[in-house]
Amino acid sequence: MERDGTLPADGFAELIRGRTPESAGYLFAKASEARDRVFGKAVFMRGLLEFSNHCANDCLYCGIRRSNRSVERYRLSGPEILEACSAGHGLGFRTFVLQSGEDRFYGPGLVAGIVSEIKASFPDSAVTLSLGEHPTESYALWRRAGADRYLLRHETRDPAHYASLHPRGMDVEARVRCLYALKGLGYQVGCGFMVGTPGQTPELLARDLLFVKELGPHMVGIGPFIPHRDTPLASAPPGDVDETLYLLAILRLMGPKLLIPATTALGTLDGTGREKGVMAGANVIMPILTPAAVRGKYLLYDNKICTGDASSACRACVQRRMESVGHSVSLGRGDHPDLGAGPPAPGGPSPAPGFSASRPLPPAARGAPPDVPAPEAR
Ligand code: SAH
Repeated sequence: MERDGTLPADGFAELIRGRTPESAGYLFAKASEARDRVFGKAVFMRGLLEFSNHCANDCLYCGIRRSNRSVERYRLSGPEILEACSAGHGLGFRTFVLQSGEDRFYGPGLVAGIVSEIKASFPDSAVTLSLGEHPTESYALWRRAGADRYLLRHETRDPAHYASLHPRGMDVEARVRCLYALKGLGYQVGCGFMVGTPGQTPELLARDLLFVKELGPHMVGIGPFIPHRDTPLASAPPGDVDETLYLLAILRLMGPKLLIPATTALGTLDGTGREKGVMAGANVIMPILTPAAVRGKYLLYDNKICTGDASSACRACVQRRMESVGHSVSLGRGDHPDLGAGPPAPGGPSPAPGFSASRPLPPAARGAPPDVPAPEAR
């Protein structure tokens, strides 16, 4: 795996099934070495701005799903978002991650306006969007407005498993098409999945890993599934921290140049989960920048950490945590090593970073219309 960045599907499944404390320790050490060779000990910091918890979707696992009537919904205005970025910039953040539910209130033009204002105000900073599935034209508009990166976890690559976690009408192939479209537009793209969702098996996780290999993303976000009390999955057991760390290490060995966050969900299930994430190969940490007045309302799962803290406290806390395990916090933009902070190149496909081009890019990645299905959909 270290040589080729991949294994056959049954090899991955076996690796996952065969996890022991010893094999995990070995992988963590190997993964940390691989990360250090590319990035050193600096962990990139991103400010996460959860600007709306309205959502048109009804994902069975998610606390802000449309059907959850107990959520107190909020939206931040453009100026409020700018203000939060400004505070974040003062704290040293050079990437702003704008995340929300799928909230149609923020039409393509409004999002583009917010992105270009952030980029005009903070030209030294990157903007990452995490707004779910949208038409390719919207992604293209936002890219032209200056958005640098897009996070869209694929959640699970298996169509039946995906269908079991999402309402009728949502379909993993649509998500995969979005990911290829984003990549074709020159975004630094992040996919990812939850670990421990109901029905997940080592075989399905192997499929997720192979999809990562196939897509060749710049970022991969994984975190344990954590039930939320007001969802249909309220009584499902949470994902396993050790298994999540193990998968994180595998991802690092597959892609030494990948940007991999130690997620808030990891820190929620384990008091030092984010530190453990870094020790297993992560190199990104995303403290919350959401204003105090609303940060307790963006609850995708129960017991989320940091909901009562000020952004400055989160920033300081994260730095302390990273230093406690021998790492530092980088104040740079933290781009993928193969991509500089250059101007957007709309339409220009980005290279498949950190992965050997074992097969040609699918049509969608070469800028074909978004209705061309990704290879596995055919
Ligand atoms: N609306 C955006 C952002 C979703 S929230 C989108 O569709 O991409 C970001 C991620 O949080 C999701 O992709 C999912 O992987 C994760 N998430 C949602 N509910 C969760 C839960 N109950 N436990 C753990 N992670 C969860």
